[in-house]
Amino acid sequence: MLLGCVADDLTGATDLALMLTREGLRTLLAVGPPPQDLDVAGIDAVVVALKSRTIPAPEAVRQSRDAAEALRALGARRLFFKYCSTFDSTDAGNIGPVLDALLEFAGGGVTIACPAFPRAGRTVYLGYLFVNGVPLNESPMKDHPLTPMHDANLVRVLQRQTRLSVGLIAAPVVMAGVAAIREAVEQGAAAHRVFIVDAVADADLRAIGAALGHLPLVTGGSGIAMGLPRAYRDAGLIAALTPAPSQIAAPQGRAAILAGSCSTATRAQVKAAIAAGLPSLRIDPLEVANGVQTAGRILDWIDRQPRDKPFLVYSSDEPEAVRETQQRLGRAAAGTIVEDLFGRIATALPARGVTRLIVAGGETSGAAMQALDAGVLTIGPEIDPGVPWTRSRTGIDMALALKSGNFGAEDFFLKAWDYLS
Ligand code: ADP
Repeated sequence: MLLGCVADDLTGATDLALMLTREGLRTLLAVGPPPQDLDVAGIDAVVVALKSRTIPAPEAVRQSRDAAEALRALGARRLFFKYCSTFDSTDAGNIGPVLDALLEFAGGGVTIACPAFPRAGRTVYLGYLFVNGVPLNESPMKDHPLTPMHDANLVRVLQRQTRLSVGLIAAPVVMAGVAAIREAVEQGAAAHRVFIVDAVADADLRAIGAALGHLPLVTGGSGIAMGLPRAYRDAGLIAALTPAPSQIAAPQGRAAILAGSCSTATRAQVKAAIAAGLPSLRIDPLEVANGVQTAGRILDWIDRQPRDKPFLVYSSDEPEAVRETQQRLGRAAAGTIVEDLFGRIATALPARGVTRLIVAGGETSGAAMQALDAGVLTIGPEIDPGVPWTRSRTGIDMALALKSGNFGAEDFFLKAWDYLS
């Protein structure tokens, strides 16, 4: 095992694990701290998914350092700290404090901070972060409920969060190539310990990876991980790159879809699945709250469905209906009621022969993963951008696709099964 990654949320960790897999590293995803007896034979990278983006900074630091220690104990010689490509954080953290702690843990020296992910519309130019061509502070991130971003200048943003001096490796240097980037970091190290690095295209990310793969700690979004696998191979740190799998073996059994996301993409996927004739059951949070719709009744319905077809249980609804439900139950309570119900259903699925499961929704996926106690996942083929099939290596043996609400094409619930063998 070479690379140990600490990610500040689950879907971000999945994204990173997929990027590393696609670029040739055999990667495991651990939901929470990895077990110390985890078998990492034949594994190049382990990504630990924390839920530390918006918790108090000292707690985020403690969890991240514990994860780094666990990864080091498993053999990691390089560390990666993954955060969101929109640099989601406040002046109190958590990117700066966690970066400080992990750099100290990695033995000091310098590191970089590069959230750029041009393919996803995130570019950094002269230190300013753009989201789909709009400065961060003018993008929808300005209104984020937890981490509103009011400054697009990442040198300033990060400097407010870190004890270390922040510098910039600007686009002209990055575009001059690998040697120029490495030299700029070496020279800049006299004045700075962290560098925001510009990147506006994949070629920039690959050059940065090639120039800085030797650093003990790299920080950024999934994009910056693009260039690292090849850099590790060229430096002889791993013997070879492994082609990404096009299929994943899945245990035989029933297939199920749990959709708790109300995002546009998921709503279209639910409609397409129903139109295609998949057996489906709608959850109404109000009926759950008043005790009419229970986990027991839903499981009875599942037991009555044909075993040779995927079935769909969904709470996805139109924005207006969701607003009405939230007014009646309260926003947080509505979310918790539905998440708890999906958790109870997920727990009961293995006993009903389900071995192949798609979960739609970030929070819903978190609830299902917790309920299933599937702690470590192997990364399989990419179904649609950002969503891989995975297979659990610890606990219950299942193929799992955890889909962030707005990801995936309309036929996602229909075609995903074709990647399983
Ligand atoms: P996404 O990835 O689209 O954000 P999440 O699963 O993270 O999806 O979040 C969706 C939230 O909405 C969850 O807390 C879920 O329990 C809640 N929810 C799901 N269906 C409904 C509904 N019909 N009414 C109100 N809240 C709902």
